[in-house]
Amino acid sequence: MADPVTDPAATPRRPLELLIAAPRGFCAGVDRAIRIVELAIEKHGAPVYVRHEIVHNKFVVDSLKAKGAVFVEELTEVPDGAPVVFSAHGVPKSVPAEAQYRGLDYLDATCPLVSKVHRQAERLVESGRHILFIGHAGHPEVIGTFGQVPAGAMSLVETVEDVDALVVPDPQNLSFLTQTTLSVDDTAAIVAAIHRRFPAVQAPRGEDICYATSNRQAAVKAIADACDAVLVIGAPNSSNSVRLVEVAERQGIRAALIQRAADLDWAFLDGVGTLGITAGASAPELLVRELVDRLATRFDVTEREEETTRETIAFKLPRGLDAAA
Ligand code: SF4
Repeated sequence: MADPVTDPAATPRRPLELLIAAPRGFCAGVDRAIRIVELAIEKHGAPVYVRHEIVHNKFVVDSLKAKGAVFVEELTEVPDGAPVVFSAHGVPKSVPAEAQYRGLDYLDATCPLVSKVHRQAERLVESGRHILFIGHAGHPEVIGTFGQVPAGAMSLVETVEDVDALVVPDPQNLSFLTQTTLSVDDTAAIVAAIHRRFPAVQAPRGEDICYATSNRQAAVKAIADACDAVLVIGAPNSSNSVRLVEVAERQGIRAALIQRAADLDWAFLDGVGTLGITAGASAPELLVRELVDRLATRFDVTEREEETTRETIAFKLPRGLDAAA
């Protein structure tokens, strides 16, 4: 007979129910950006330079490095004549202009939904409006969007308090836009504050927070009440992943962000009978499976997926690469 003291397999393991949110993980913009780098390597051969992390995920970046991508922060680090890809977050106009000036062969992996916000910003400024931009200071997407318009044409708003402190050129001639990966709830509160202070403000025609961000937040909300704790797989610099942790916490649920299964602190699971799992838009499904497998080494796990909506969106590749796909 197996001895539970010497044979861990004979020790009955504590049950752990996994409630896995869907949709989770890769969005269409991330999928497209990664594909662009892979196809550029196939087309040009290694190395292909990538300005900034193509998406905010170390696993993805390391996988592309292994295939021949070289990640840099500025174009000055790209040698003359080398191919370069711009990340999914978008870049200021000065970046493609510099690439063109240097005769670099560049590909733009900016998510089409970020590009849409860029075009709206340009159009609004051309029509003489000042823009209030709701976003997080220093995020590459914010830097890229500010870089679509002349300096001073846009004011950054990060909080409701920022709205009270705003000094604008003409309160009758304002519009607002937002970063694509914000908290739906926080943004609604900031937008309400903007409307209160500037009743004449013009709202964007459609929602700027992207479908992937809002779907992932809704999916976490849907599972949170049934969970004792939630784990989000994603990077600390991934805006949409950090927002998922906040969404769970606001439902009163303990939540943590981990990059890989190995980062899990077992103490986090003390007293947890049902664990919610999700992943940010830049985290591949493989990392979710890796976490489930690690949990199964200690617990008797059962898995259940709760799907709140089905995503079918896919974005076209840039011209020239679509034939290679
Ligand atoms: S999170 Fe949204 S905006 Fe960002 S790459 Fe994905 S679809 Fe595009």
